[in-house]
Amino acid sequence: MLTVEGLRSRYGRIEVLHGVDLHVDSGEIVAVVGANGAGKTTLLRCLSGVQPVSAGQIMFRGEPLTAVPAFRRLQRGLAQSPEGRQIFTNLTVEENLRLGAFIYEDERVDRDMQDAFAMFPILREKRNLAAGGLSGGQQQMLAIARALMGRPACLLLDEPSMGLAPILVAQIFDVVKSLKALDVTVLLVEQNAFGALSIADRGYVLETGRISFEGAAAELIADPRIREAYLGI
Ligand code: ATP
Repeated sequence: MLTVEGLRSRYGRIEVLHGVDLHVDSGEIVAVVGANGAGKTTLLRCLSGVQPVSAGQIMFRGEPLTAVPAFRRLQRGLAQSPEGRQIFTNLTVEENLRLGAFIYEDERVDRDMQDAFAMFPILREKRNLAAGGLSGGQQQMLAIARALMGRPACLLLDEPSMGLAPILVAQIFDVVKSLKALDVTVLLVEQNAFGALSIADRGYVLETGRISFEGAAAELIADPRIREAYLGI
């Protein structure tokens, strides 16, 4: 579904992605794990089109994506739940969800919202309240639900567990895992390597802008080098 080849990206003169190769097959959950500053967010921003790519190629559903502007990537089926959630705090929960469906004007938007509420009942309860009043975990649920309102074939998730209490982290990872049943392919970027690899099919380790390990998630979890460096085991 998604193939990245030789992807390079820079901030000014400083290159932070030095030729990243990865792929995500239809129906998979793929985790990209790595330390703070490894380039995980930059990678996702290149995929969603808000960060320039200096070299390399991104293919999505058989077509080149690299030159497609960000606002058209959702039409192609790619949605992002960004780092730090980036919800619109002054808008209500429902208004945030509707913004996720901004490219659609059909009656399915209302149905999709009901599906989002079925997935996250707390959002139904709070639908008319300002999103800024939600807890961190609820805001993360809103960010994921808003991205799903775009009916993506592939969802890019940037650190959904960041800043959440352990019980909420588990809940969010359960939600991500459940996206498989909805036929949504997921590329998940996480510092919480154990949590991410526990729900992923495959994983990549990104180390200072380069992929250093890749494989089945279970193999990565079992690899002594990864256990020591990333899993704290
Ligand atoms: P984090 O988990 O902290 O978000 P990350 O793996 O997502 O880390 P990036 O945010 O992609 O890493 O950052 C990769 C490198 O690029 C880091 O060295 C960071 O300092 C640098 N960087 C990120 N954003 C910018 C920017 N806007 N301008 C300059 N350098 C940046």
